[in-house]
This record gives sequence, structure tokens and C-alpha cells, in this order.
Amino acid sequence: MTHDNSVQDLFEVRSPLDGSVVVELPVQDAGSVRDAVAGARSAQAGWVALSPSVRARNLRRLADGLRQHADDIAGRIRAETGKPEAEALTEVLVSIELLRLYAAKAPRHLRARRVNTGWLVGKSAWTEREPYGVIGAITPWTYPFILAMDCVSPALAAGNGVVIKPSELTPWTTLLIPGLCEEAGIPEGLVRVVTGDGSTGAELVSAGVDRVVFTGSTATGRKIMTAAAAAAAGPTPVTLELGGKDAALVLEDADLERTARGIVFGAFFNAGQTCISVERVYVVRAVYDDLAERVTALASTLRTGGGDDVDIGPMVSVAQRDIVEEHVRDALSRGARVLTGGRPEPAPSQVYPPTVLADVTDDMMVARVESFGPLLPLIAVADEAEAIRRANATPYGLFASVWTGDRKRGIRVARQLRAGGVSINDVLSHYGVAALPMGGVGASGFGRRRGLQALDEMSRTRTLMSDRLGLRREPWWFPYSLRTSRLVRALLELRGRGGPRGLLSALRRLLAGGG
Ligand code: NAD
Repeated sequence: MTHDNSVQDLFEVRSPLDGSVVVELPVQDAGSVRDAVAGARSAQAGWVALSPSVRARNLRRLADGLRQHADDIAGRIRAETGKPEAEALTEVLVSIELLRLYAAKAPRHLRARRVNTGWLVGKSAWTEREPYGVIGAITPWTYPFILAMDCVSPALAAGNGVVIKPSELTPWTTLLIPGLCEEAGIPEGLVRVVTGDGSTGAELVSAGVDRVVFTGSTATGRKIMTAAAAAAAGPTPVTLELGGKDAALVLEDADLERTARGIVFGAFFNAGQTCISVERVYVVRAVYDDLAERVTALASTLRTGGGDDVDIGPMVSVAQRDIVEEHVRDALSRGARVLTGGRPEPAPSQVYPPTVLADVTDDMMVARVESFGPLLPLIAVADEAEAIRRANATPYGLFASVWTGDRKRGIRVARQLRAGGVSINDVLSHYGVAALPMGGVGASGFGRRRGLQALDEMSRTRTLMSDRLGLRREPWWFPYSLRTSRLVRALLELRGRGGPRGLLSALRRLLAGGG
């Protein structure tokens, strides 16, 4: 089955640095998306037939291929997103870590496990993990390489094929992945990319994929879940990695120098366009002014632009920059103060400078709605209890951080936060630990990427049980008689009471009758 791409609409990918066209690609339609899924499915038959340790060897080769092509990958990331080189290369590094984790751990994690059959003697039982088949991955523009590899790596380790629909803003990076996989000996066509906007994403959800892994906004996540429920092939399972409004809680005993540096990094990495960026800072009043002074001093030294020696690149799109502007305008109209930044660079630049806002209150958009930009709103609280209460007063629950001089206190506070994960005296680094699962609660979605849990999400359990005794009939099969009920009653005693008393009572039932 082939479809002619030339009749499909084209879209342009533009550089956020100078607006130049990076590449022009087709908006793939229903037919070509279905072809991609069918193609991945036929390649998957050969892939799943390989043992997990052979697949692991390919993943190791892929990790090495990523190392060799790191500059090409980072070059494409930078062309589409404008992010600094160190951040683009980090996407490759973190992807390598993930591939190495699955190469090392997947064969053991996916192996068959024997299950004790308990009172059903004469049987053997075990569970096995089988891949879903073809995974449909829909990804955003924030980290075009990592977020695709977060799905591809465990999907391949578990024996699946993958069709990725990257963001229309950053598809060029993702288009490298099939070639890298083939170079690593992974069957041709097992990993595919379909390009286009939300319409192509919607086609992928209903193209017969066996699971959808979506990373993106909460609004789109809701639509995808609805569409997946109605898919013709049957309700399709989804993993939803959605937006966040991560809080940082700064307690009065925090090391303010480390805290200020950490929070500035957490708020402004990737120009704040990170699902797990620091979006709200709750600071205990006793240290509020001191922290505000430190973060302002640090933020105002950050260099912006598109060269090799900048800390903060442009916003990915004018629309994204407009959201940030709206949040700042709204905050100022409700009484916030700008400590640094607060004004976009003149067009055509898409840079929004790192901005620190003081006197932020909960009614402001910047405290409630995902800004997804270089904003650092400071919110004063009386104490730890108020910080926890206000940090939890959001439908989102992706990540959070607690800053304190007392690690035990930090862990205690972390456990009271409604979030998929919490860092103590740290920020963002958890993403560098491939073995840590990642995911949210509430409006931030459900399911877990990364870590060994991702292997469970990319495979389902098959249970197998085999009879070993070969009796003519089991005692509980037809036809029923008084003896059958007696047997069930005896088992009720045995399992219900447990211990020697249960055994005695069961024997009494069996031998003396009744029932
Ligand atoms: P988005 O929801 O607008 O788009 C994400 C992807 O979905 C794109 O590929 C888009 O084309 C596609 N899409 C749009 N409509 C669709 C539909 N109806 N059916 C199927 N696919 C559709 O998100 P975005 O603006 O690209 O990314 C930013 C968002 O992603 C933020 O909310 C951010 O927090 C979130 N995000 C979350 C994580 C996480 O791990 N939780 C990571 C990165 C980004």
C-alpha cells in the first residue's frame, strides 16, 4: 500500500531565531498514517521474534550511534528550537542513558515469572510480558529528541514497533530517528515518523495502533483519550504525560545561595519551556526578600539570544511568547512587581528575557495557568504548612521541589505534595536518572515514562497455566454433587481460617459431611 505524498498539503518549519524556513514537510493524511502503522506492524513480527537480549544488543548499538551522531542531532534540535548547544546535546545524552538502562535491565525485567498456584495443586502457572504491537507516540516541541526517545526506547526493548507523530513545530529532529535505528540493526520500517499537525495526530490515534503514548498539553490529552476510547479496533490504552505548574517550596532553613541558583536554573532552562520547570515559588516570608534579591541578581546576568555563548534561547513560537506576555500583563495589573525582565525583545526576536515577579498572588494567571516561559513568580507564605497547602491548590501534579537545610524535613514535606515526583534541594536532575519513572497526577496525566515502569506500560501481561497431573476430571468439574459442595466448604474453612485450625476444620468438613 502506498499513497502519494505529493497530493498532501505541506507545512513549513521555521527557525525561532530568524524565521527562515528550516524544512517543508507533508501534512500526512489518514491513508498514509494507516500505511505507516501497517508497515510498522509487519516489521514488528520479526522484531518480537528476537529474544530480549538480542534486542538489547541493538539498543546498545543505537546508544553508540547517538553518540556518533550527537552533533547532527543537536544541530537539528537547535535549528528548530533555537535552544543553546549544551541543552540540545543534553537531549542526546539523556537518551543514551535511557537506552543503556533498557539494554541492561529489559531482558531480566521482561522474563517469564512463575506464579505459586496456592491451593490449586497440580498446576504450574506463570506470567509473561508481551508487547502491545504498534505504539503510536505523539510528542510536543519542547524536547523533540528526548521526548520521542523516551517512548521509542522502552517500546523497542519490549518488542514493539513505533509510529511517532512529532509536533508540527519540530518534526525535523524526530525524522532522524528511523535512520539511526536502522543503522543500529533495528529492522527497517519498525520505527516510523508521520508528519503533520493535530489532524495527523488524530489520524494516528484511530489508525489501529495498540497503545497511544501522548506527551503534550492537558487539553489535547483529553481529546486523545476520548478518541482512543472510540477507536474502531476497540478502546485503546493511553499514557498521558501532560502539562504542569510545578511548585518550589523554599523553607526558612534553606541554603539560600544553592536555592537561588537551583530555582533560576529550574525556571529558565530551555527558556522555561519545560513541563517540569519551576513555575511557582512559595517562599517562607522570613527569607523572601533575601531570596528575591539573589534570584534577581542571578537572572539579570543570564545571556539571551541565539549564539554559542547564551544561556537562554528564543521562545519556540510567537504564540508561545504571547502567552508569556499575557501572563506578565495580567500579573502587573493585579499588583505584582517586575524585579527583572518583563518586556519581550523587539520583533522579529522571539526572545523573552528571564523575568522575576514579586508579590504574586494566587488569583494571577502566572500562579494558576501553565506559562511555559521564562517566568519566575515569587509568592510569600507564612510557613511550611501554608506552602504545602498552596502548592497543592492546583489541578496539576507533575513535579515539585522542596528547599530546606534539613533533608528529613524535606522528605516529610515532599510526601505531602500532590505530584508525580519531588526533588529535595535539587531541580530537573531527576530527568537525568534514566531509572526514575516520570509522570503526573490529576491534570498532569497518568502512566509513567522512563524507568522500568515504562517497560510495563509498553507491554501487557499474558498469564499461562498448565495442568500437570492429568486426572480424568478435576473434583470441581461437572456433574456437581453433595461432595462438590462439601469440598468447597472444606476449602472455605481451610483458606478462611488459615493455620492448623483451618486445616482441622476443613478435614472435619470433608470427612464428616454436612452441607
Ligand atoms: P500540544 O498538546 O499542543 O501538542 C502536542 C502534540 O499533539 C503535537 O504533536 C500536536 O500536533 C498533537 N495534537 C494536537 N491536537 C491533536 C489531536 N486532536 N489529536 C492528536 N494529536 C494532536 O502541546 P505542545 O504545545 O506541543 O507542547 C506543550 C505542552 O506539552 C505543555 O503543556 C507541556 O507541559 C506539555 N509537556 C508535558 C511533558 C510531560 O512529560 N508531562 C513533557 C513535555 C511537554
